Amino acid sequence: MTQIKLHNTKTRKKEDFTPIDPENVRMYVCGPTVYDRAHLGNARPVVVFDVLYRLLRHVYGPDHVTYVRNFTDVDDKIIRRAEETGRPIDQITAETTQWFLDDMAELGALEPDQMPRATQYIPQMVAMIEDLIGKGHAYEAEGHVLFAVDSWKEHYGELSGRTVDDMIAGARVEVAPYKRNPMDFVLWKPAAEGEPGWDSPWGRGRPGWHIECSAMSYELLGESFDIHGGGNDLMFPHHENEIAQSCCAHPEGEFARVWMHNEMLQVEGKKMSKSLGNFFTVRDLLDQGIPGEVIRFVFLSTHYRKPMDWTAEKAREAERTLRDMHRVLLGMLPHVVPQPEKVDDYFIDALASDMNTHEYIKHLHGFLSLAEDEDVVDRFAAAQALADALAFLGLFNLEFARSDIPVFDPEKLLRLASRLSELRDAAKKKKDFSEVDEFKDKLKANGVEVRISKEGVELVLGPDFDPSKLEALK
Ligand SMILES: [Zn+2]
Repeated sequence: MTQIKLHNTKTRKKEDFTPIDPENVRMYVCGPTVYDRAHLGNARPVVVFDVLYRLLRHVYGPDHVTYVRNFTDVDDKIIRRAEETGRPIDQITAETTQWFLDDMAELGALEPDQMPRATQYIPQMVAMIEDLIGKGHAYEAEGHVLFAVDSWKEHYGELSGRTVDDMIAGARVEVAPYKRNPMDFVLWKPAAEGEPGWDSPWGRGRPGWHIECSAMSYELLGESFDIHGGGNDLMFPHHENEIAQSCCAHPEGEFARVWMHNEMLQVEGKKMSKSLGNFFTVRDLLDQGIPGEVIRFVFLSTHYRKPMDWTAEKAREAERTLRDMHRVLLGMLPHVVPQPEKVDDYFIDALASDMNTHEYIKHLHGFLSLAEDEDVVDRFAAAQALADALAFLGLFNLEFARSDIPVFDPEKLLRLASRLSELRDAAKKKKDFSEVDEFKDKLKANGVEVRISKEGVELVLGPDFDPSKLEALK
């Protein structure tokens, strides 16, 4: 069996991954707060952990992996959005949840096995909070329930490598008179009039954000599970708080064994922000005609623990590469049919090394060269390996591959070639080659190379071939 190695934030080391139960490998990833379209940065962890999910399913079997990703559907931002728009909260969350699922599906992300919504787990959260109060790790103050960081002081901050005192000095903490320690964080807070709220032993209110992941991961994965993932920005305070809650409520367990964090995403070398005008959603890109596979390919070209810089140039380059690969493979259909489950170990080994997708893509290029080379005896085998590996990573979608590529209708090319021959014959008689030249220029402008010899006219697709424009040529 392939030995997967993963970088564990907790130990700051790349370690051999050994599941607690290989029959049920369990992974939890923090999901979105549903009040708006997912921006490009939100999509990075989705794609990163989708690759890990595919790898785990390949190594341990598709029925032996449980992937949970939550939806935060109660939160200040959602309440504010409802106030601004005058729309009911559940309408906003239902709509944006569906947007998220649709957009991530376009990026080729498989749906997790479970996608719990916070509002479905309020009783479990209330029970966990009561338990924490009973164990002396939380206290009630002015309708709030707070986690007492001092009750877990020796471990709080271990994940992100800071001490409580450092954090107090460096963090923007909300100072509230009812907090015993400024780092204490909210488990439950009162709901104002008109805000969503649930009855609890501490009055009508709603849960804090952190407690939902602790309660839902416990319900669905138990007190100990294998992998907990999320973006780097969640390490502190969110993940630190999840650990404090879960380990104090369930000291018999170890919560998550391996913590994985993806680095952040920038756009054209700058942090994505509304004020810089470089803020966009996944849907914006899709609407601009950038296929989801291309976005996915750009993401995977950078290792998940490195900052990812999204640039328009990278997107163009990725599209060229993918289309090259698809062009070669479609030309070999039906001899080459992608079988993702048969992906070569060569590729799996790259992923098993802390998800080295960059290496994986290098291998794709290598197999493309072999498949393209007519002197290579095994070019069909190389093409098969390429097809399997593309499909394994969710990069060989026939719909996308066939879109915009009417080239694979070889008859069209033949028709253009015979049109050129006709023009040429007519030109010889007229002794005027201007029409022929004009037609040749048009073909060249669209990336079609023209070879004229004694045998006749031959058209060859060049690297700049633009199929969308070819349609217009008659
Ligand atoms: Zn979380």
